[in-house]
Amino acid sequence: CIFPSVPCHVRPSFVRLGYIRAMTSHIVGYPRMGPKRELKFALESFWDGKSSADELQKVAKDLRISIWKQMANAGTKFIPSNAFSYYDQVLDTTAMLGAIPPRYGWAGGEIGFDVYFSMARGNAELPAMEMTKWFDTNYHYIVPELGPDLKFSYASRKAVTEYKEAKELGIETVPVLVGPVSYLLLSKPAKGVEKSFSFLSLLGKIIPVYKEVLAELKAAGATSVQFDEPTLVLDLNSHQLKAFTDTYEELEESLFGMNVLVETYFADIPADAYKIAISLKGVTAIGLDLVRGEKTLELIKRLGFPSDKYLFAGVVDGRNIWANDLESSLRILTTLESIVGKGKLVVSTSCSLLHTAVDLVNETKLDKEIKSWLAFAAQKILEVNALAKALRGEKDEAFFSANAAAQVSRRSSPRVNDEAVQKAAAALRDSDHRRATPVTARLDAQQKKLNLPILPTTTTGSFPQTVDLRRVRREYKANKISEEEYVKAIKEEICKVVKIQEELDIDVLVHGEPERNDMVEYFGEQLKGFAFTINGWVQSYGSRCVKPPIIYGDVSRPKPMTVFWSTASQSMTSRPMKGMLTGPVTILNWSFVRNDQPRFETCYQIALAIKNEVEDLEAAGIQVIQIDEAALREGLPLRKLEQAFYLDWAVHSFRITNCGVKDTTQIHTHMCYSNFNDIIHSIIDMDSDVITIENSRSDEKLLSVFREGVKYGAGIGPGVYDIHSPRIPTKEEIADRITKMLAVLEMNVLWVNPDCGLKTRKYAEVEPALTNMVAAAKLMRTRL
Ligand code: GLN
Ligand code: ZN
Repeated sequence: CIFPSVPCHVRPSFVRLGYIRAMTSHIVGYPRMGPKRELKFALESFWDGKSSADELQKVAKDLRISIWKQMANAGTKFIPSNAFSYYDQVLDTTAMLGAIPPRYGWAGGEIGFDVYFSMARGNAELPAMEMTKWFDTNYHYIVPELGPDLKFSYASRKAVTEYKEAKELGIETVPVLVGPVSYLLLSKPAKGVEKSFSFLSLLGKIIPVYKEVLAELKAAGATSVQFDEPTLVLDLNSHQLKAFTDTYEELEESLFGMNVLVETYFADIPADAYKIAISLKGVTAIGLDLVRGEKTLELIKRLGFPSDKYLFAGVVDGRNIWANDLESSLRILTTLESIVGKGKLVVSTSCSLLHTAVDLVNETKLDKEIKSWLAFAAQKILEVNALAKALRGEKDEAFFSANAAAQVSRRSSPRVNDEAVQKAAAALRDSDHRRATPVTARLDAQQKKLNLPILPTTTTGSFPQTVDLRRVRREYKANKISEEEYVKAIKEEICKVVKIQEELDIDVLVHGEPERNDMVEYFGEQLKGFAFTINGWVQSYGSRCVKPPIIYGDVSRPKPMTVFWSTASQSMTSRPMKGMLTGPVTILNWSFVRNDQPRFETCYQIALAIKNEVEDLEAAGIQVIQIDEAALREGLPLRKLEQAFYLDWAVHSFRITNCGVKDTTQIHTHMCYSNFNDIIHSIIDMDSDVITIENSRSDEKLLSVFREGVKYGAGIGPGVYDIHSPRIPTKEEIADRITKMLAVLEMNVLWVNPDCGLKTRKYAEVEPALTNMVAAAKLMRTRL
């Protein structure tokens, strides 16, 4: 008997299926958008009423088929199905469970596009459900809204339909389901439900639906199933952990006879969760992330692995674009094999490939050498299978030696290595970099020069980007207009924006960022060490994708990046004009980063480049410089244990950029996209003179925490209205918000500004909104 310790009736069916001798391969999940964002365009055209549901379904089906074939052709044993989604896999699970918030008026039956997309994007009468970040990725999921009265029923057969669709092609797949415990732990209370409501109390209601799904899958011929339970890597309490034990015990009978994989990803699984995971009943395999989970190999060595389970080892990075170091992975896999046993190891990706770019083949403009260092989703499939083959003694020598050559070229390339930069960055580590004068005294010195009224008004940087403006940039990039014409057009735009602000009587002006397409790309294009792709898109939410730059080498700044535009803008007005930069942490967090050195090392290098820019701006006479750190919180590690270290180097990197300026130079920063209550002390530690901060998602608590940070005498501008909505706020409403802010903040530190940049709005919205904002500030000044 191969599993002497396991009673016969619970033996994994791998035995029956005869997989046991071969080292096999698995892919956790796959990007849905398609190599050229085909799904995005199909979705948007359907939403705009320009194409039919059939047409959308056809595009989606073609994409699924091509992905399945791609995985099958590469020799992948465990191919995921139901990893596709028209919007989001958590929303799909909400549909599967019939957990539709009543306001969307679902009347029963299979969930159709109308209800589904209403939840995802809202409709004429209703806003969308809330979305939030999927762990620490840039993907966003639709948050389930649950409560004690919600009724669950099996309402979307998508998992079964997709399984059958693949089967018709002769491809056996592993249907992927969001695991029941993670689904509940990722939910929020529905309206009117207590914040303290225990979501896990709903397990008894959703498990019966999962059982129905499993029964249907089995009836359709499915022999395997994958439950994604990424919450297992979070800091869970014993009650939450026990829910996993109970859930899979409850499902055991339904799972009988199947290969059952519980997949985790995004971090090291904590030891207590690991012990629970490897002893789950009914479960035959555990998937672990060995890329982000840097200590997971040690954990397995230390705690061992049960003889009745398979290990799905995620060694190929699903969150980055680097070619795998195959020899190094092979060593890890060999070590693992010696622990878990021959034939018990399955080679896999660290997480779904959803979080990486789709296919390198389409990168026709990328430098050849850099390209040889990369692997997107399509190439990662080949890597996983090459590793599985090598483990079973059928190593593809040509594939491995090409990979080894690329690794060597990457390590030694002069494009990657710049000794001077490395030295300068390494020297920063054990220092602190703080401006010598405390913030209150600095603000005094600045005020003498700036002479601002109380409650000074400003905006966070960008002004509306019109179609004309985008065309000018595009034509310049394509060499269709000359540099002269381009500069003239951009200067005209800035002039217009300056004039508007002067007429509105705003105190500290911005140039509007018309020369920028994107706040990270603009700087990346001018820094050394960055590369850009044509099609390296990654889904952010729904049809929205981002195209992160690739940081491949030591970063430096060959020449000033913004001085020309900033000085030109300042010369157009006698009011202070903010220099506008993106901070190092945000540039880091919104890029594909190097995996050959720690993140902080790369961040310090970027910080030094931005520092050069800050100092050049100061020397050019710019008195106020804003360094945006919109994404600082996004890099926060999932595990509490690791957060302090991250915040420490991230905040340090920010301070490096501006620790060298004069007291009279005013440093602003801007943050948004998150709830900041829990990192307020780090924000204070950034030691900027003024911070403008998104406020619509936070609450008055944010302000009181700021105040609590007692010594925080710095200026603070909590957004007085939400720019994400086309609604124009009234003067009274803004004055009311300012009054509320003044209840917790001193009047001499409060600034008045919108929540974020105005880039996505129209002038017809921006002008009246800012008019009301300035009027509200003036009204408040008369009251103080
Ligand atoms: N300065 C940028 C702007 O206003 C900041 C954008 C952001 O915070 N995402 O557009
Ligand atoms: Zn913002």
